[in-house]
Order: sequence, then C-alpha cells, then structure tokens
Amino acid sequence: MPDDVHRTVPKPSLTIDGEMRDGFVGAIGNTPLIALPKLSAAIGRTILGKAEFLNPGGSVKDRAARGIIEDFEARGMLVAGGTIVEGTAGNTGIGLALVGNARGYRTIIVMPDDQAPEKYGLLRAYGADLRVVAAAPFTNDANYYHEARRIAQATPGAVWANQFENTANRDAHERTTGPEILAQTGGSLAAFVAAAGTGGTIAGVGRALKAHDPGIRIVLADPYGSALYSYVKTGTLAVEGDSNAEGIGIKRIVANFDGAPVDDALRVDDAAMVEMAHWLVREEGLFVGGSAALNVVAAARYARTLPAGSRVVTILCDGGDRYRSRLYDAEWLRANEVVPKARDLSFL
Ligand code: PMP
Repeated sequence: MPDDVHRTVPKPSLTIDGEMRDGFVGAIGNTPLIALPKLSAAIGRTILGKAEFLNPGGSVKDRAARGIIEDFEARGMLVAGGTIVEGTAGNTGIGLALVGNARGYRTIIVMPDDQAPEKYGLLRAYGADLRVVAAAPFTNDANYYHEARRIAQATPGAVWANQFENTANRDAHERTTGPEILAQTGGSLAAFVAAAGTGGTIAGVGRALKAHDPGIRIVLADPYGSALYSYVKTGTLAVEGDSNAEGIGIKRIVANFDGAPVDDALRVDDAAMVEMAHWLVREEGLFVGGSAALNVVAAARYARTLPAGSRVVTILCDGGDRYRSRLYDAEWLRANEVVPKARDLSFL
C-alpha cells in the first residue's frame, strides 16, 4: 500500500445528519437485533441475535477496535502516522486495520497459523502488515500474544492494543452493545448468552444489562478446549476436550473477563455448533461463523430452561463468508468428522 494512504484524514467540514453515518468508524454499531422466527417457534421462547456480522468490518470486534483506538487517542498515546500492533485470531486485527486506515494509522497484525485462511487474505487486502506465527500455547513465549507485545515494544511510536487486558474493549460494549440491546428490547429480556474470546462482549454487555435489571441472567457459552466453563461452574480453571471454534474459548482469566457478572455457563460441542451453522443458513437465511452458531445453540438450550415466552438475546459475532473453506466446506467437515446430518433441531 502506498505511504500516502496512511496520511491523517483531515477533519472534514461535512454535514453529517439524519440517517447518515460518519465514515467507517461511524458505521460501526447500531446493528439490527434479529428475531429467529423458526427457532423461536420450535422452542416456544424468543431467540434474538444481535447482528454483529453487519458491522462494516464484518464482526463484533469492530466495536472493540474503535473503543481501543479512541481510548489511545484520548490519552494522547496514538498520534497521526502512529502504529497499532495486535495479536489476534483475526477479527480484532480486521477491525483495527480498517479503523486504522480510516484514521491514518498503520497496523501490524500477528496471527497464529491455524485460523481460517480467509482472515489472512482479508488482512493482506486491507494493507495490514501481517505476521503469521506458528500456533503455540500461551505459556510458550512464541505465542502470538507475546510476539505482538515484543513487536510493539520494538517499534517506535507503536501502541499494543492488547485486547485481552485492555478494558477499553469491555467499555466499548458497556457503552454501545448493551444499551442498544436494552433499547431494542425495551429493556425486557430474561437472559443474555455469549461466548468469550477476550470476554469484552459478555462482560461489557453484562454490566450494562445488570445495571438496568439485575434479574437479567448473563450466561457464558463455552466451547470445549476452554477453561471458562469450569471457572464459572466451580471457580477453578480446567480444560476438557478441544474445539475448532475460532475466536472464542480461553484458558486463563484476563482483565476483560475478570469480574464479569456471569450467572451460569453452558458448554457446546463442535457437532452441535456445526449443525446449527448449517441449520441457520438453510432455515433462517442467516450465514454466520462458528461462534455465532455456538451462541445460538447455547441461547436455545438455556431458553428452554426458562418459562415459555421468555426472551433470550445472543450475539451473531461474524458472518459465514470468512469460514467458507472450513465450516462450509464439505471436505473440511468430513476430515474433522463433523458433517452435519440433522434435518431438524433434534441436535438441540
Ligand atoms: N466470535 C468471534 C468470531 C471472535 O473473533 C471473537 C473475538 N475474539 C468473539 C466471538 C468473542 O468476542 P470477545 O472477544 O468480545 O469475547
């Protein structure tokens, strides 16, 4: 990408009013809350999905990216021509790269090499400086998280977004996602169900919903291979099994998740996640990623424990496009022994 693309955008003397959105950054958020009519009818409870895949960067992480960058700007740590460094499963990097392009910052994005290939392609297309490292456990110094920290420390004028420990991530959801859900439901919902990658979404939304009504249940949806289900249920971190889910599940307690007002947790296996992903596109016309499908499974299962007619809100984190070579690829499904078979919702 030519250097001049990264110049600082001059303050526009435009008139932005009515239904207009002010640039890429202004187009983040205010996503629709979509009722899932067939699923809701089948279980006798209303399941509502916050359509985060409709953010301009295609995922819920656009909100965290905006929140983190605006926080650095407000603290004077990021100035024109500056560099943002982050380690990410992909979506946070995508959000940071696009907000960065719109605001005049460079991005260095570090990713492990085991994520869906589509996400690397998107980051390269956006002009991010992408560094792919071998996937390694967090305890290994070669892990993408530690590599991002080292790069940020070695790069003059750079900031490390640090989405796991930087609570500007959670604050963005407390300030935007949570209040939007309250406005869209008239404040009337029984539960909010979401998986955690950094915990920013569940913690921030949870805080906003609890401040409105402490009776709203905040429920973690966790894949196998994550320690959070055990942490919510027993207070100790313990991992069981594994998952192909991307962007969710974590084995340690990070600042964004720490202290989140979580009442309960459900664990969902990959088979149910894949069945739901394919059911959602076939029956509801919603083409989403694995974490969104896992969220919907958990939301439906939790809703069934509540009185008939209850409303449960969850997050449709990102779209299916960026997983076409995996979750929606017949060969990949066969190789991973998760070929969807169900013609109905019996897998719930
Ligand atoms: N789903 C996907 C696809 C993601 O990339 C992420 C972020 N890592 C999440 C869900 C979880 O969001 P959060 O980091 O706010 O917990």
